[in-house]
Formats: sequence, C-alpha cells, structure tokens
Amino acid sequence: MRVLLIEDDTYLANGLRESLRHEGYSADVVFRGHDGLIAIHSGDFDIVILDLGLPDIDGLSVLKKAKQINQDLPILILTARDGIENKVKGLDLGADDYLAKPFSIEELLARLRVIGRRIGNHSTSFIEHKGLSLDIKGHSIFIHGVEANFSRRE
Ligand code: CA
Repeated sequence: MRVLLIEDDTYLANGLRESLRHEGYSADVVFRGHDGLIAIHSGDFDIVILDLGLPDIDGLSVLKKAKQINQDLPILILTARDGIENKVKGLDLGADDYLAKPFSIEELLARLRVIGRRIGNHSTSFIEHKGLSLDIKGHSIFIHGVEANFSRRE
C-alpha cells in the first residue's frame, strides 16, 4: 500500500516514514500542503495521512481539495489534542479517520490496516482459513474478524 504523509513536523514525519516502511508500506513524505496536493494529483497513492496544521495551506482546505481531486482516496487526519472542532470538520469534509496527537505508531498502523481492509488492498497480504485470518503485511491475526493480541515475536 502506498502512503502519502503530509506533515510539516520533520522529526515526526521522518519517524513515521521509517516506521511505515518497516511495516512494508511504501511511504512518501511532503512537508507542505501544496506539495501534498501535487502528489495527490499524480494519483500514485492509496492512502493519505494529513496533518491539519500545515504552514502554507490550512489542512482542512487540503482535505477539501484532495477529495475534489479523488473522492475515493482514503484520508486519515492528524489533529492537535485540543482540535476537537477540526476533527469534526475534517470528518464532515470526508476524512475517513483521525488521530489526535500525540498518538502511538501502533495505533496509527492499526488504523491503516482497517482502512486497507476496507479498500480491499488485502488480497495479497491476507491468508484466510476457517474464520482465522493472518495479515502477513500487518503482522496480525484475526479470529472471526476480531484482532487477537499477540506480541510481535509471537
Ligand atoms: Ca503541523
């Protein structure tokens, strides 16, 4: 799955990119909303992670334009902890999910897996047998659709 990350916090963005790549995602980072829209225009991405606090264009405007470019492109928004209002606006504008900062990488990966399953990008990474499914890329196991808790090593 190809992920576009639009986030101006370089430390966070680079850390997320490494984590995503480690999990088998293809991940590109842009630091400005304008560059994000150009990347979305290219049509090369399956999912967008969009920080709402960007230096050049308001994140909500980026979201609105992104949905105009491709209505079906899943977008997960990142909001400040006190950004309840922005969260609601974002969901109203068509964001598929949101995470409030600070968040754990594990939670972000779990949200991405949910979106990935919804857009049907699981055909090559899921093995299913009698109610048990193994997500090879996401390193997780589901028993009748419910994620089972195992440590990474297990
Ligand atoms: Ca920001």
